[in-house]
Amino acid sequence: MSARTAIVTGGASGIGEAISRRLAADGVLVAVFDRDGAAAEEAAAAIEKDGGRAVGLAVDVTDRAAVDAAVARVGELLGRPVILVNSAGITAFGPSLEVSAELWDRVLAVNLTGTFACCQAVLPGMVEEGWGRIVNISSSSVHSGSPGMAAYVASKSGVLGLTKVLALEFAKKGVTVNTIPPGFIDSPMLRDTASGGRLDVAQQIERTPVGRIGLPEDVAAACAFLVGEEASYITGQVIGVNGGRNT
Ligand code: NAP
Repeated sequence: MSARTAIVTGGASGIGEAISRRLAADGVLVAVFDRDGAAAEEAAAAIEKDGGRAVGLAVDVTDRAAVDAAVARVGELLGRPVILVNSAGITAFGPSLEVSAELWDRVLAVNLTGTFACCQAVLPGMVEEGWGRIVNISSSSVHSGSPGMAAYVASKSGVLGLTKVLALEFAKKGVTVNTIPPGFIDSPMLRDTASGGRLDVAQQIERTPVGRIGLPEDVAAACAFLVGEEASYITGQVIGVNGGRNT
């Protein structure tokens, strides 16, 4: 079988970067999408240094025209993408009554509309190929709620619903669509939250049944399984990676 091509959004940092590295190590050709083009190229160069094949592209997932152009470019550079991992995301904090319309729109635009745009951009190609895998990174907060994170939790809950709809619409086309809601994963996003005083890492470890913080590689391992050949009967599912904290 010839190597498959994947797009990983937010692939230059944290969970997305670990997924990019893992898929490349598994023999997948990887297009790293990130809004920071230099960081995307750096992540791709690190993969190539390790013997994988990758390209890095500056893509803001809120820019639909840029997403479409980048998907076409990936087709030219690596072959038609049949794997999509949506990991690009942003957080926002503040009491619900103080969330501005602008902030709400921004978080929804990246986390939910951006995810939908990338799915729409790649799905026609997957249908033509008769094979595809989409993994949407949501958040364990969709199960637990999280005070002060209304826009974020609403956006990630939308990702969960979107995943279920797309799974049903494309199930007969050879395309699976699943979501991983991670919880408490050591990444730049989590470290920013901790340094902003919004999360106490030691306290959270205490509250985590397996007794440690999660690693981006923990999420990448689950993702690698879901995008593989053997996962063809798994679609519309929510596969938590959270050290036992949430379902
Ligand atoms: P991260 O290190 O901040 O990685 C997210 C990446 O997405 C960054 O490179 C970020 O770029 C990029 N990005 C943001 N907006 C973008 C846009 N409009 N277009 C393209 N790229 C964009 O965070 P992470 O922890 O790995 O998070 C990955 C995903 O997991 C996110 O969707 C997050 O919500 C989810 N998640 C994480 C945790 C956790 O514990 N870490 C828990 C639950 C869910 P910038 O750095 O320039 O913003």
